[in-house]
Amino acid sequence: MTQKILVLPGDGIGKEIVAEAIKVIDVLSADFGLDVELEYADIGGAAYDASGHPYPEDTKKKAATADAILLGAVGGYQYEDLPRELRPERGLLAIREDLDLFSNLRPAILNETLADASSLRPEVVAGLDIMIVRELTGGIYFGQPRAIETNESGERFAYNTMVYKESEIERIAHSAFKIAMQRGKRLCSVDKANVLEVSELWREVVIRVSAEYPEVELSHMYVDNAAMQLVKEPKQFDVIVTGNLFGDILSDAAAMLTGSIGMLPSASLNASGMGMYEPIHGSAPDIEGQNIANPLATIMSVSMMLRYSLDNAALAQKIDDAVNKVLEQGYRTADIYVDGMKQVTTTEMGDAVVAALKA
Ligand code: NAD
Repeated sequence: MTQKILVLPGDGIGKEIVAEAIKVIDVLSADFGLDVELEYADIGGAAYDASGHPYPEDTKKKAATADAILLGAVGGYQYEDLPRELRPERGLLAIREDLDLFSNLRPAILNETLADASSLRPEVVAGLDIMIVRELTGGIYFGQPRAIETNESGERFAYNTMVYKESEIERIAHSAFKIAMQRGKRLCSVDKANVLEVSELWREVVIRVSAEYPEVELSHMYVDNAAMQLVKEPKQFDVIVTGNLFGDILSDAAAMLTGSIGMLPSASLNASGMGMYEPIHGSAPDIEGQNIANPLATIMSVSMMLRYSLDNAALAQKIDDAVNKVLEQGYRTADIYVDGMKQVTTTEMGDAVVAALKA
């Protein structure tokens, strides 16, 4: 059955990098039997320019019937003075909320040939392949009550609430166990159960869910230790599952182990496996229109889409292999260029991946 991909190029370099990812999808359709239909819509600043809202009705309607969404990036200097609810980033938050995309997948992958880009020693990170599964729609960022108030003696105080329902923990745990099943079958749940009740419940529920995945080896780690282990010995991890706040911090730390923002894809999934796929970087207005942005994070977002929403791990692997091949052949966009390699433009990098796929 034909699956529908909604393409949201967005702003800045979004259009340039998405165009390269589309070349890859076109080759998979023409030569490798991928059966998809592409539909396009606006989001972010582009949507505001076209219709006065960063997440317009037309986009919402198309998103509701898509099997997966490919997003470039949103944002731009020209939108910074808009009221908060009309800014491009609101479009992203709105679509995540609208589709209940609670499971955020952030891989930290470091191709052997790029190990020098990391701030850690190459032998610590070469070949790194971790998947962080972060709960995205609950926890302390959304918990009520929250406020800044003034007490009787006139001193201001502020509070937030870290809260998780069992059902929220269950669904993110299922999401993480399923991903572990498709990878190395090891899952580390990160919490602060020695101090926080919310983590105590988190751990209890994750252990309960683990009974349904007997092949996955489950371990637990306190978040402070996890932060330490990520920089000390990152290759010990396969899949990490954690709450919104801890995941926010750990996924950025893990991403930076790889040293290259233009290389990292991400996914946000809902309970039915529908997902939005995007590079972790933003719209990079500083390099917009120069044909120098690295399209590989977006191309690898297509690989994640095939693996996690379109149930086509074989074609996902084809993309991953093609990306590895172009890197081994020495092709580098400016952001990952080192002496002795072949510097290429955005479009040339896309063409190189297409050639590797066809080879
Ligand atoms: P950014 O990720 O856009 O850029 C940070 C730096 O990395 C810049 O120097 C940029 O040139 C470089 N860079 C980013 N992607 C690259 C790529 N593919 N190839 C080569 N170099 C790349 O972050 P920023 O500058 O803080 O934000 C710019 C805009 O993007 C802002 O409006 C921000 O709100 C938005 N933003 C959007 C998202 C998203 O759409 N998911 C995420 C982060 C930031």
